[in-house]
Amino acid sequence: MIRQKIVAGNWKMNGSKETVSSLVEGLLKMDTSNSEVVVSPSFPYLSQVSDALSASAIQVAAQNVSDQAKGAFTGEVSASMLKEFAVKYVLVGHSERRSLYAESDAFIASKVKLLLEEGLSPMLCIGETLAEREAEQTLVVCQRQVQAVIDLVGIEAFENIVIAYEPVWAIGTGLSASAEQAQEVHSAIRQFLAELSQTVAEKVQILYGGSVKASTSSALFEMPDVDGALVGGASLDAEEFIAIVKAAG
Ligand code: PEP
Repeated sequence: MIRQKIVAGNWKMNGSKETVSSLVEGLLKMDTSNSEVVVSPSFPYLSQVSDALSASAIQVAAQNVSDQAKGAFTGEVSASMLKEFAVKYVLVGHSERRSLYAESDAFIASKVKLLLEEGLSPMLCIGETLAEREAEQTLVVCQRQVQAVIDLVGIEAFENIVIAYEPVWAIGTGLSASAEQAQEVHSAIRQFLAELSQTVAEKVQILYGGSVKASTSSALFEMPDVDGALVGGASLDAEEFIAIVKAAG
């Protein structure tokens, strides 16, 4: 099955009104006809970025969402609020949230459930730490993280979920997984899903994330189970990000 590639930029907690505006201006020059392009600004810039991209094919993602629908949750942002800003995707389970903010598998699954109820698409980030890889626990960890979501929303819900395999040791370190390492894990995740639904497994887009650069992206995109990339640092540079989008086809 041919799956459309997605190239998503995670801007993390970076930018200002001015730099966001010039980044978007740079991105608007790109050809988006071959893959789906997504950018993920911080909450305060969602409105600005959504408006600036409204006439383009570039989609907007949010970096986080509350696990609650509404109410007395000071500082939180709900899925229904995000919808008002033409957000299509929401990152959930990013390793920075799992490790720095102690988000558990079950908590992440509850965010996925709320997003799906609002018609938003979760980008579910999974991945092992270096210690887990060295202990040969990579697949066990990834399967556990996916299973927590399946337990709450069921396998069919994965028709509307994008998975991002992001080995923690590769995020922001400059140490990208090799294309072969990424393929091995992507293929195993797909097989794991296939045990429950062959149809879902064939459809689900699995992105790779972790120090992706233009120079490493072509080899990754050649892998049959790598359906795109979630790009952190390199997505803050319009030229570099556009080169990654080009490499995706
Ligand atoms: C990320 O934060 O999702 C990420 C992949 O970051 P980087 O590309 O900077 O490693």
